Amino acid sequence: MSAGRDAAGLAPWACRPGRSRGRRFAEPPAPTRDEHQRDRDRIVHSTAFRRLVYKTQVFVNHEGDLFRTRLTHSLEVAQVARSAARELRLNEDLVEAIALAHDLGHTPFGHAGQDALHACMAAHGGFEHNLQSLRVVDRLEQRYFAFDGLNLSFEAREGILKHCSRRNALRLCAVEPDGPARRFVDGGQPSLEAQLVNLADEIAYCTHDIDDGLRSGLLQPAQLEAVPLFARWHEVALDAGQASSLAAAAPVQPGRRLVFETLRRLLAALIADVVQATEAALAAARPGDVEAVRRSAALVSFSLHQREEVDALKHFLFGALYRHAQVTQTTSLAQQVITELFEAYRARPQEMPADFAATDDVPRAVADYIAGMTDRFALREHERLTGRRVFADL
Ligand code: MG
Repeated sequence: MSAGRDAAGLAPWACRPGRSRGRRFAEPPAPTRDEHQRDRDRIVHSTAFRRLVYKTQVFVNHEGDLFRTRLTHSLEVAQVARSAARELRLNEDLVEAIALAHDLGHTPFGHAGQDALHACMAAHGGFEHNLQSLRVVDRLEQRYFAFDGLNLSFEAREGILKHCSRRNALRLCAVEPDGPARRFVDGGQPSLEAQLVNLADEIAYCTHDIDDGLRSGLLQPAQLEAVPLFARWHEVALDAGQASSLAAAAPVQPGRRLVFETLRRLLAALIADVVQATEAALAAARPGDVEAVRRSAALVSFSLHQREEVDALKHFLFGALYRHAQVTQTTSLAQQVITELFEAYRARPQEMPADFAATDDVPRAVADYIAGMTDRFALREHERLTGRRVFADL
């Protein structure tokens, strides 16, 4: 926690809480916390944040207690982003706020759920999880007398809206011309804090999906040893294991310890690479402040070589894990659940809670309601409304 750390510790190109572009609804300052600490705290106390614990990352929630969920993924993203932010003298509290909120708009059942909901909404403006994350913090959380949503700072909202189609950006800009969607119309980058969380997301899932993939048995160590980025740190970890005192008693066996010893080195190397490449880019560009950052090209990145290796790893994970027959079998059931839930609520909006049922835009209210569900609540509702149980072992 960096409470007490003053803005003087921040680099000139960092977001300074005292110079925030502000909140949509003006509020008096908090006595003990700056604007971005307050953003983070509001996210942590939100209902949508607590639901992340029961939402799928790759494995559906009931498949095992040790796999990542959206919540533990978000915590790992925050940890990675904070490590790098501290090195780069960026605003750690803002980075943490963006990281903890970045997946709030995800549907149950991960990307399968999102694809299904997008298909259901095709004739009604579609469904994008980034846009939905912004919708959660701007509208769907209802905790304050004075406004809907969490009334986060512009900088937090800018980081949360990491992608947005031009069509949706134009729609958002019609309501809020200088809002976080502007850059998707005019071009330009978000703050360095927002750029950093994007890469931290990639670093976190690349490493933890290897771990979950091996733990589940869907990935085999031999497959990973053919992926150069993994293979290199696997070799280093093996050498370190041979030299350690534990090894004298028991030679290093391929197993969980070796996986952790490999992944912790891989994680540290990826963070170090981002810090180094970004420092070099900043030294060349020397943006005077965050507004100059927004006008520059992207400045937070991997080195070219590391980028290639990370892309190769992602390509491997896509084919070997995300498209593994066992994963896609579960995801097709999940898509069926989302699609049938959508049809059921659309036909009978009164099956939803009163604040969702009372709407002029039924499809959007149904999408909002379904997107907010945890995996298991979606399954229970599906069974209640259709009388059929999709996953037997729940
Ligand atoms: Mg993520």
